[in-house]
Formats: sequence, structure tokens, C-alpha cells
Amino acid sequence: MTQHDHNMTGARPAIRQLDEGAINRIAAGEVVERPASAVKELVENAIDAGARRIVVTIADGGKTLIRVGDDGCGIPAEELPLALARHATSKIDGSDLLNIHSFGFRGEALASMGAVGRLRIQSRPEGAEGSEIEVRGGLIGEIRPCSHYHGTTVELRDIFHATPARLKFLRSDRAETQAVTDSVKRLAMAAPFVTFVLRDATGGEPRETFRVDAETGDLFDALGARLGAVIGRDFRDNAIPIDAEREGIVMTGLAGLPTYSRGAAVSQFLFVNGRPVRDRMLTGALKAAYHDLLSRDRHPAAALFLDCEPAQVDVNVHPAKTEVRFREPGIARGLIVSGLRQALAEAGHRSATTVAGATLGAFRPEDGADVGGEARVYRMDRPGGRYGAWNGFGGYPAPASVEAARGFMAPDPGGAGFADGAALFEQAPAGRVEPEMPEAAGFEDAPLGAARAQLHENWIVAQTRDGIVIVDQHAAHERLVYERLKTRMRDNGVPGQALLIPEIVELTPSDRAMLLERAEDLAALGLVIEPFGGSAVAVRETPADLGEVDAGAMLRDVLDELSDAGDSGLVQARLDAILSRMACHGSVRSGRRMRAEEMNALLREMERTPHSGQCNHGRPTFVTLSLHDIERLFGRR
Ligand code: ADP
Ligand code: MG
Repeated sequence: MTQHDHNMTGARPAIRQLDEGAINRIAAGEVVERPASAVKELVENAIDAGARRIVVTIADGGKTLIRVGDDGCGIPAEELPLALARHATSKIDGSDLLNIHSFGFRGEALASMGAVGRLRIQSRPEGAEGSEIEVRGGLIGEIRPCSHYHGTTVELRDIFHATPARLKFLRSDRAETQAVTDSVKRLAMAAPFVTFVLRDATGGEPRETFRVDAETGDLFDALGARLGAVIGRDFRDNAIPIDAEREGIVMTGLAGLPTYSRGAAVSQFLFVNGRPVRDRMLTGALKAAYHDLLSRDRHPAAALFLDCEPAQVDVNVHPAKTEVRFREPGIARGLIVSGLRQALAEAGHRSATTVAGATLGAFRPEDGADVGGEARVYRMDRPGGRYGAWNGFGGYPAPASVEAARGFMAPDPGGAGFADGAALFEQAPAGRVEPEMPEAAGFEDAPLGAARAQLHENWIVAQTRDGIVIVDQHAAHERLVYERLKTRMRDNGVPGQALLIPEIVELTPSDRAMLLERAEDLAALGLVIEPFGGSAVAVRETPADLGEVDAGAMLRDVLDELSDAGDSGLVQARLDAILSRMACHGSVRSGRRMRAEEMNALLREMERTPHSGQCNHGRPTFVTLSLHDIERLFGRR
């Protein structure tokens, strides 16, 4: 027992009311955690004030300066002290905390900022004079007149200077700047009709580091355009529009194609009733929606807006208001998972345009690395261009070396080195002419076209009305097998096929135990195993759809999956993951020659099968090159 526990009879300190300054400093920690959270609160205030234009300026990652200027409704001089008081707000009257339509409502952001830094508010409402007020060391100064345009500017300098412990927790200027930028971007996505400008004034002269101009048109178009402007054109081009509803919750936005996934969860933007949130339940649902379209280390990109009656969701979970609590979380989760899956399935065999772009880039000379310092532009009329100054994948030579290249490579008109073109053709052996494939007839209008050839025993080349499609036969087949297995599993279990002679697989005792423990689950997946003497198991049946497989290799893969997943995750997700591993074993490995009708059958099945645009690991199963692109490739456009 320590003295501490028994300190009841000694000099007990009396209970006292903390002063306002101390209360504010304690509470401030929850609202203003780092510069980015101050920026978020200030920008939210500006949006709440009806601003059309918001300019954010920071210096040193926001540590020395945060300034947010807006052209909103302003604050009348006599209300300035109230704006700084804790729990003073113009946004709610306190009677209904479940019916909130503004970003703010807790009335503590400005009070908190006054407690952690040097705060100054300058404001001028329409038709009034400008006035300002300052807070230093928690002390509120006088209201003074100032000149200011219509709107409000709030400036927070030297955040946490009064709490050095807190300062130490901040990260590098770069990391804090990044976090500020992220906050501004999220809010910019939530308010498409507002112009946002972010400036960095580190070291003096402010530099503009981010800007989006106010969108016009209806909300849907404006949001789409804004998402493109913030996340990038690429994202917009590689995402599918979402519009789903479930029991009073509406989900809109854009969901990235699986082939447009990212290595980290950096492109996930979720909004609830217009408020950017970072909520684990919601991001978990997003992940679940893509779980069998992406490998574990890839993350989907998405910007999703959930809207419902304010009473359906509590935003007052945490002072920073980035977590939410749905009254019925199951509905929100189900909406995200099934809404996205359905939309992705409908997008079917689409895969990212960036894939075709990257393919062309690899072909095209002008897209090579910029060696000469000047951007390379492929032009047919350029000196040397005609005769293939092109030097393989190194690309078109840098401008400085064009002349040299020409001297070196140009045909020698009088010499014997190069015959002229016509003669060359006469000497060329007649090209092998493939007979027209009869089965191909009528398939040209199908999305994946008519199969024309198989190259290197793996690449199917198909012809469409206005382009060509190249299919990775192995990846495509793997996906089809996986989707087929999944459908069977949902229907009534994957049928197994008995092996003529059971295959005996030696395992470590712990692997053996792990597999046998799951024997029943695996049997439902068409994989029937039994204990066999010592540390071995006998494989009696494998999934019929897979045909002949190497049972030992398959067991080892299943084991990998079981130990990777541990006991976490949904049963369904884990079964899917196991099926995905098994599918790899039954696939047409590259190296198998296919007949025309087999290739066409594969293409048609891809068109019918949801998610066939990417393999089980999120890589594309095919790329499309339009004739337009091909013509550009050859400089014809
Ligand atoms: P809350 O936003 O929760 O109401 P704040 O402490 O952030 O609390 O702001 C307090 C009050 O100050 C707001 O309710 C609003 O009336 C006023 N206010 C703050 N910022 C602005 C601004 N940029 N323009 C107009 N009024 C503002
Ligand atoms: Mg506020």
C-alpha cells in the first residue's frame, strides 16, 4: 500500500473550480490537436458563414502562422468576445443536438485556439464597420476598429507556444503541411461551389500550393468536377459513378476501378451529410467492398458521400467531429458494401484507362525519359525523324543529338547499304496470310471483340470495331475460374472431383493440424482432405472446376492464406481468399495454345462475368488500344 492510497486523512486539497484559462487549455487539446485541426475548424467556420472564397495561408507547417480569410457573413463587433467564449455559438440553440445542419455547433473552436496560441479575429459584416479582437495568453483584449473587406480573417500565430510539451508532439514542417493540405482538400470536396486557395508563406513571400475555383452547375456535376480537380483527372476517368440507396441513406460519389488501386489508403474520402469523416466503420466497409478485387496490400480509391436525415447519425461523438455514429450502422455498412460491389460488377470488364495510357507510353517514343532537357515531341517532319532516329525504347534522341543521329543513321542514297523501299519489298518473302477465322464473324461489336491471334502462347489479340484488345489469357482465366467457384460456393458448395489415387502431402505437424481443423470448411470448397499417418494428409478431392491440379502446391497456398488471415476477418472474406488462391491452380497457365473458338469463348465469358477486368490481384486482365491511339502511335494524328 502506498501512502498515496491512504492520503485521506492528511492535508486533503479542497475541490475547486478551475479558472476559464485552465478549462480552455484542457479542452483545447481535444479540438486543436495539430495545425491541420485548427485549419479544419477555421475553414469549417468560413463555409458555415456562407463564404464563396476561402484563402488559407500557413507558414512552417502552420506552427508559426495559420490565417484563414473568407468573404462570408462576418461577425458584428459586439459579438466578437462571444465568438471567443466557450460554448457560445450562433449555429444551434441547444434544443436539438440531433438536428444539425452546419459544420460547427459546439462553440469551442475559437475559444480553444485562443488558449493554445495568439489569436486575432478581424471581421466586417455587410453594411457595418470592420473590427478586430485579440487573445494572448488566454486574455481577451479590447474590441478595436480595423479596416477589413467584407468577411472574416482569423489568424492563429505560434500555436502551442504556451504548451511546449504539445509542440514536441508535432511532426516535421513538411508532414504538418501535408496534413493541412489534406484537411483543405477534404473540405474543398465537400463544398464544390466555394473557391479554395492554400498558400505557404514560409520564409516570407506566400506561394500558392493548392487552388480550386468555384464550380457551377447542379450539385451532381459540380461535385464530379470538384473531385476531379482535387483528386485528379486520372481518378475521375478511372472511377465509376455511385448512386445507391438503402433505408433512408443515400450514397453518391465516385469509386475507383480496382485496377486504379493505391499502395496506401491515401485516396479515400468519406463524407457524412457533407462532413468529411475518418471513421473506422466506414473505411472498413469500403475495404470489404473491394476485398476480393484487390490483394491485401492494395487500397481502393473512392470519394463517397453518405446522406441521411441528420437524426440518423450522431456527429457529436468526439470534439473533432470526424467520427460519426449511425443509429443503425448495419444499414450504412451494407449500403457501402453492396452498393459498391454492384456498381463494380456492372462496370464488369472495364479496367483502368491508365493501363492503356501506360501501354502506349511504353511504345511511344515521345513519352520516354527526358534526356535532352527539352520535352521530346515526336514529329514526322523533323530532321532525321523520317528514317527512324527512333532508337528503340531509349526513345527519340534529344534535340541536340538529332543532327548526329541523322548523320549516323540516314540511308546512304548512292551506296549499297540500303536498297530503296520498293526493292526491299520485292525481295521480302510473301507474308504468311492467316485464313479468316470463321468463328470470329459477328464478334466485332462485342466489347472485347473477335479473337484474331494468340501470341507467345499467352496474349490473345482481338479486333473490335474501333481498336484492338490484348488479353492476358492466364490472368483472365484465373479470374473467371475464381468467379465461377464463388458462384458455386454461394449456391450449394463447390463440387469436388475425386482423385483416382489420393495424393499424400507431407506437412509440418502444426500445418497439418491447422488444415485438418478447417477440413469441413475446405470440403465445402471442393477440397477434401483426411488425416494420413505421421504428419501427412491425404487429398481425396479437388474442386472439379479446376481440372487437374498439383494438390501439394495447392495445399501449401491454402495454408499460406490460412496463416496470413489468422483468425481475423469475416468468414466469407476468408473463404473467398482461399478460393482465390485455389483458382490460381486451375488456370490456363500461360504457355497453352488456344484455338480460335476457345479464345472467343474466353472473351465472351469475360464479358459476362462481373469483375473480369482485373485478376485476383488487382492487375488488369486486358488492355484496349483504340485505333485513334494506334494512329497516334504511328504519328498519323
Ligand atoms: P462553432 O463553429 O461551433 O459555432 P466556433 O468557436 O468555431 O464555434 O465559432 C463561434 C462562433 O463564431 C460561430 O458560431 C460563428 O457565429 C462565429 N464565427 C466563427 N468564425 C466565423 C466566420 N469565419 N465568419 C462568421 N462567423 C464566424
Ligand atoms: Mg466552428
